[in-house]
Amino acid sequence: MTMNRRQFLQAASAAAVAGAFSFPAFAAPGVLPEKWDEEYDVVVIGSGFAGLAAAIEASDAGASVVILEKMRTPGGNSIINGGIMAVPGSPEQAAQGIKDSPELMMKDMLKAGGQLNHPEKVRFLCDHAVDTYHWAVEKVGCRFQSKRIKQEGGHSVPRSLFTENGSGSAIVTKELAYLEKKGLKPRTRCFAQTFLRDTDGRVKGVLVRDGYRFPKADSGKLKAIRARKGVVLAYGGFAADAKYRQIFDPKLTDKFDTTNQPGATSESWREASRIGCQMIQSDWIQILPQTSPDEKGFGIGFAWSGHVSMFGLWVDAKTGKRFVNELANRKVRADAILNVRNMGHDAIAIGDSGTAKSFEIIRPGMLKRELDRKCVFKCETLEEVAKRFGVPVEELQKSVATVNDSVKTRKDVMGRPVNKDMQPLGTGPWYVARMSPKIHHCMGGLLTNLDTQVIDVEGKPIPGLYAAGEATGGVHGQVRLGSCAVIDCLTNGRIAGQMAAKNATWM
Ligand SMILES: Cc1cc2nc3c(=O)[nH]c(=O)nc-3n(C[C@H](O)[C@H](O)[C@H](O)COP(=O)(O)OP(=O)(O)OC[C@H]3O[C@@H](n4cnc5c(N)ncnc54)[C@H](O)[C@@H]3O)c2cc1C
Repeated sequence: MTMNRRQFLQAASAAAVAGAFSFPAFAAPGVLPEKWDEEYDVVVIGSGFAGLAAAIEASDAGASVVILEKMRTPGGNSIINGGIMAVPGSPEQAAQGIKDSPELMMKDMLKAGGQLNHPEKVRFLCDHAVDTYHWAVEKVGCRFQSKRIKQEGGHSVPRSLFTENGSGSAIVTKELAYLEKKGLKPRTRCFAQTFLRDTDGRVKGVLVRDGYRFPKADSGKLKAIRARKGVVLAYGGFAADAKYRQIFDPKLTDKFDTTNQPGATSESWREASRIGCQMIQSDWIQILPQTSPDEKGFGIGFAWSGHVSMFGLWVDAKTGKRFVNELANRKVRADAILNVRNMGHDAIAIGDSGTAKSFEIIRPGMLKRELDRKCVFKCETLEEVAKRFGVPVEELQKSVATVNDSVKTRKDVMGRPVNKDMQPLGTGPWYVARMSPKIHHCMGGLLTNLDTQVIDVEGKPIPGLYAAGEATGGVHGQVRLGSCAVIDCLTNGRIAGQMAAKNATWM
């Protein structure tokens, strides 16, 4: 059934006023506009790593593409991201003699994911990660630092590469530049409000609000966009949506800060459910352990605490004792820090002048910025650390001794893997950051197959609908390992773009 354009847009306007959970006539399966305002082969929703990778591949395959972005600027969480990407078997690892393999990365991901990850998705990702690395470097022009390889918590070897500027922006800007050369720019302030699914099951287009002002639901001009071949859902996660995230995990109230951009909200998650997409594991929402309570959002203090997790120690300020393996997976560490904080104690990350020296090499100027921002504090002696943070000094000295023992014996009492470059601690000045976890990542989302087709509640692929990135579930299970999201978004984003471009056109 079709509605004429006026009836169709009137129904859509009425729906926006009635509220997001209404089920308006125009959104019923099979109700399509008689006339479309615009037409493209592939419509991509979201302009982060995944959406841009999909747009690149779809466009290179000859498809006409539009990229819809509801916010004022493109890039989503990807452009503010920490810039680390896991690659098992990169040339950078080989140059440093680090032995790694897709199998080992898969083992690490499944272990952290509590085996909730869908093994075929993990296998696919790990097998294609090196290929995506070459795609990013050789095709898109991304650069990774050659000497700096991080061992993130839960990974058995150092395999996380840093972008040239230590931020995801170094990837997003290259993706945008690649697309711009092809005459393609994300259409910002364009919110994909309704996914139009026909009675034959196929998704045939989207109803957008052009000129949308986030978060005003009824802003912008309604337009119907036809997707001749496919729609790619790359709308990211909902970590910034306190109300929605509490449906899945009631602990995650608005008392928690988030690392996410303000537009990481749930509208598209609800819309995907409405058209019958199978959602999985949406209640696994990650909290980033080592963020700082002394600044807002993602901030910069995490960088010192993260470096200290390899080369220093984390301590309960009230007891002076280490309270967790500083390189355990994110859930273990976040839960441990929350436990300390729930007792009213501070959880602090401590490193000495040696730790600061190695930090300066890999993140030049960062420690000074952190000190200036007052999310890291300098103390000349361990006694001064104890006094400033109320730590029993003898216990603190014993805790430092456990780290120094681990350097000698290559075994750590807390079970932390001992980094080959780890040095004994003992020379001031000491640098200390407080830690308070912030809501970070949605592990769950749309169920997809290896061709990135979205599966519906009846277990069948939805014709014309593809998805990639944080909008999807199944790759990370209960805990995403640090640096595995970038590679997931790029790898599956590429596939989604290729598949959508290859799909048959509907008449
Ligand atoms: C601060 C921070 C640091 C991180 N650091 C790392 C790291 O170093 N390594 C790593 O692997 N992972 C990291 N992550 C996780 C990773 O960055 C994200 O999982 C990833 O960026 C998600 O990419 P995406 O393309 O799926 O979505 P996003 O980049 O979030 O993009 C989705 C876009 O879709 C838009 N959108 C949503 N709904 C609509 C709609 N209906 N219509 C139009 N537009 C819409 C959003 O506004 C957004 O711009 C980090 C995350 C954060 C928040």
